[in-house]
Amino acid sequence: MSMNFNSKADGGEEVLTAKGPMLRDGALKGKVAIVTGGGTGLGREMAKTFAHLGCNVCVASRKQEVIEDAARELRQFGVKALAVPTDVRSPEQVDALIERTTAELGPIDILVNNAAGNFTVKSLDMSVNAWKSVVEIVLNGTWFCSQRAARAMTQTGRGGVILNIVSTHAMTGNPYTVHSASAKAGVIAMTKTLAVEWASLGIRVNAIAPGPIEDTGAVRQLWPDPEKAAYVLSQIPAGRMANKAEVADMASYLVSDYASYITGSTFVIDGGRWLSKGAFSM
Ligand code: NAP
Repeated sequence: MSMNFNSKADGGEEVLTAKGPMLRDGALKGKVAIVTGGGTGLGREMAKTFAHLGCNVCVASRKQEVIEDAARELRQFGVKALAVPTDVRSPEQVDALIERTTAELGPIDILVNNAAGNFTVKSLDMSVNAWKSVVEIVLNGTWFCSQRAARAMTQTGRGGVILNIVSTHAMTGNPYTVHSASAKAGVIAMTKTLAVEWASLGIRVNAIAPGPIEDTGAVRQLWPDPEKAAYVLSQIPAGRMANKAEVADMASYLVSDYASYITGSTFVIDGGRWLSKGAFSM
């Protein structure tokens, strides 16, 4: 059974998908962004959309060859791009990321905390290391990057924007990923807390909570089985998964000056999936 994630679940009907960034050309011109996990999946798509809009972008994750490749692609949009190998679990490496980005691209305006890890495991069988591996990337990594970036944004006096990529399972819970669901829920609490604490510094903090996104690591990893994929699709009222561009467009809006009064919010983009959980019938 082959699965077209971008079609209606009940068969082949084409859907409208985004065609290029929704903001006007140059909407992020001259700004500097860091996207963690920016070499793959949604992170790479957001980095490309930002670059398309004129933003200079640093992509950061552990695999140097992957982020170098992403930076090469970003430069094709005529912006400056940088790849800084970083493990977000290390505060020292995050400090080095902030310093290098500032030195080579200029003061940081935008941080997107996108890096994550996840895998399914029964909670009763979960090892200490399994728990720590996800919580340290998602919760600790988001915190280290946010705190360090906010210090840099404060020093320049320009303020800035932080965008956290969470997941609807932070709100609904999700069996077999208690580490990820718990860490992402923590990131939503962090988003609300820092939005209030840092508003007077001119720093906005928001989050996007996507449902399943087609052609991404999370979907490939969690639902390799076509029957499971069909089950997931059947749970989405919109009848399809999000495409990466739809999420990247929302991200580009939230980090832009058009969203200058929006802070502390988590935006769900999931085709109605999480709201449908309590439905008696569909
Ligand atoms: P992905 O392609 O699997 O990418 C995860 C990224 O995180 C990779 O680029 C990885 O790069 C980086 N990363 C992992 N551990 C890291 C660490 N310790 N330090 C620095 N970087 C690290 O992810 P995706 O599926 O596009 O998902 C992107 C975001 O959207 C995640 O936050 C995910 O939770 C969220 N999300 C995704 C979906 C979906 O359906 N895809 C749904 C809901 C939410 P390295 O291996 O090079 O470090």
